[in-house]
Amino acid sequence: MAESKGVAYRKGEYMALDEARIDIVDPAVTKSDVVFDAISVWDGNFFRLEDHLERFRASCEYVRMTPPCSEDEIRHIMAQCVERAGFSEAVVFILCTRGRYAGGVAFGDPRTCENEFIAYAVPYYWVVPKERAQTGTHLWIGETRRAPDAAINQRVKNFNRMDLTRAQFEAFDHGADAPLLLSMDGYLTEGPGFNIWIIKDRKAFTPGENLLEGITRRAVFDLCGEIGLSAETANLKPEDLHRADEAFISSSAGGVIPVTRINDRPIANGAPGLTSCQLRDRYWERRAEGWYATPVADWLAAPQAQAASAE
Ligand code: PLP
Repeated sequence: MAESKGVAYRKGEYMALDEARIDIVDPAVTKSDVVFDAISVWDGNFFRLEDHLERFRASCEYVRMTPPCSEDEIRHIMAQCVERAGFSEAVVFILCTRGRYAGGVAFGDPRTCENEFIAYAVPYYWVVPKERAQTGTHLWIGETRRAPDAAINQRVKNFNRMDLTRAQFEAFDHGADAPLLLSMDGYLTEGPGFNIWIIKDRKAFTPGENLLEGITRRAVFDLCGEIGLSAETANLKPEDLHRADEAFISSSAGGVIPVTRINDRPIANGAPGLTSCQLRDRYWERRAEGWYATPVADWLAAPQAQAASAE
């Protein structure tokens, strides 16, 4: 099955992405009761697959869900989605949904649900227009605040995204590429699909609270170590961004992308920063070298067959 749009997996079957359906009374739909993760594939390799699976496991545990398959089965299903779609560059989504209530369709006891696992692979995409990786992106800090951790734990990768979507409209209304949301306290948090970084006086800073701890963010900490740049978390205000020497975002969907404009003001001289570009290039160079790479090909065989061949 060669599909250009993607391939999905549900209930033991693979299908073209366009044919994949979800149960409309699954609380995933009625209550955003679903957690997920998104893993990039470049040149036939998953990036930091084990880190993503660890985060997915933690997300499931937080919402008290158990995917009805083992982690080896998940690795295998992910690999199959990519292979069947014929992609060498992709983003693979893995989801655990609550599954419909045993006693009724609209309201019920979440303990009675049989959780469901869904996966799909789509072509690799960039969180802002692809060319911004070279030219720099324009972010917009608007009115909409990121939902506080005390209500929705943002370290859990979730689809409760009314805030992010509303903020996207605000950003697009102002001609920006994407929004950057503040916390209720007025600190920088993140945007839809990315974490934010600033560089000031040869040091890198990224917010530490009320956000998803991105796997690419983790990679950026490593890359900063490799180039001898100190990197730490900090509570950052919009003025820290305005006064920064450089800024960039990190995401599975695009790696490291320089930020050159916030609302109506350029950052520094309005050109992508040298260190941001160094980190961007190094991210892709390291990936090409096989850094934290898991070949999709390694997981194409069914887990039972893998186990048997290992004996
Ligand atoms: N923040 C949010 C809200 C996200 O959805 C994402 C990724 O989709 C990120 C940050 C970046 O995380 P990662 O680097 O794991 O892609």
